[in-house]
Amino acid sequence: MNRKLIILVVFITVVGIWLLDDPSQSTQSTLIPQPVQPFSAELDARYGELSALERRYIRPARTGRIIKLNNGQNLTSLLGNQGISQRQVALLAMAAEPIIDLGQLQTGVNIEISHPQPGQHRVRLAREYGELVQATYKEGSWHVELLHVPTEQLAEEHDLVIHNSLYQDADQNGIPNGVINSSVMALSHFVDFQRQVQPGDIMEVRFERSEVTSFKSLFNHLQNPLLLTYLRFTNSGEDYRLIRYKGAFYFPDGRLAQSFLLKTPLNGARLSSYYGNRHHPVLGYDRMHKGIDFSAPIGTPIMAAGRGVVKRASRYGSFGNAVVIDHGDGYETLYAHLNDFASGLKPGDHVKQGDVIGYLGKTGLSAGRHLHYEVHHHGRAINPLDIKAPAQARLQGAALDGFKQQLAQLKSMDSQLASLSP
Ligand SMILES: [Zn+2]
Repeated sequence: MNRKLIILVVFITVVGIWLLDDPSQSTQSTLIPQPVQPFSAELDARYGELSALERRYIRPARTGRIIKLNNGQNLTSLLGNQGISQRQVALLAMAAEPIIDLGQLQTGVNIEISHPQPGQHRVRLAREYGELVQATYKEGSWHVELLHVPTEQLAEEHDLVIHNSLYQDADQNGIPNGVINSSVMALSHFVDFQRQVQPGDIMEVRFERSEVTSFKSLFNHLQNPLLLTYLRFTNSGEDYRLIRYKGAFYFPDGRLAQSFLLKTPLNGARLSSYYGNRHHPVLGYDRMHKGIDFSAPIGTPIMAAGRGVVKRASRYGSFGNAVVIDHGDGYETLYAHLNDFASGLKPGDHVKQGDVIGYLGKTGLSAGRHLHYEVHHHGRAINPLDIKAPAQARLQGAALDGFKQQLAQLKSMDSQLASLSP
């Protein structure tokens, strides 16, 4: 039997079973007007070939149908199978263009398709976590809007005794990789994770996971945003407790717990390559990797690692679009392969720690999108993760009061924290 025949048999069987299965409905009442919804993926494929009469026998779905965009599929074929014409899809792409590029959808995106009224279509899909694009086709045109789906913050807390390796043990305890990355980054100002971590060390993390309160299945393919809020690490007699307050980590006494240079000059990134010797993916031979690489989506904002003066913001050989900042005392940072620079950024500009200087890309000699980040001291590249010089900053006045309030809240939730005093 060829495939078409099998599909047809399945179709007839399904319709047949459905008619038999529902004795309360006469054959008459199954003749329902369009729009119509097929039952299964096989039927989706067959649907376009059905005659108008055949289509009327298929029961419309009451709620939207969610379909995953598979490898090699495009929106036209996917929506075409759901009774949306090629012309309507083309109009949709144009109407949606200011909000989302429907020609560039990632494989695995979930798309909800429904038909609220005869002749109407509704298409919904996620843009970023918590952002929903909703397109409605009515009276010959599409109305496209961006909706913000409410999220709730779910707090989680995990204790961990290290037996093997931090990542392995964390994984077994259900701590997300992103939380461990943030913890390693926050602690790397004090702890050398390559050498200092030993079996028996204790880690305690508290973090918030953002979760949409509706349309959950449309966000399934996206990573929930995670925010590390509290971290404790006990290592051979040292005891570090870090509390996040307004975007930075502080010790319980209000001292800033980070270096004068950020180790992670972007948010939400994965450390994808360390400092040191390695095999170069593009050049194909071993060479010194003079920085660290972070993987994140194209366009992710890149921040100045510390206060300083922009020395370069231009094309820079194999670095592609690069920014170099002079921080004084012989320190310089370099940010390479950028897609674009912050608007108007030029040599001589003064920047503060956290100012956006550009956007992640893959310009220059780069195997894929990433940020290549270097720190130089007196002209020599050093490992950004080795910078131990702490910032001298400390919370004062109203900021210190706010921090104390937050600390009190933390303590009320956790008796182990009650011994902390700011
Ligand atoms: Zn690199």
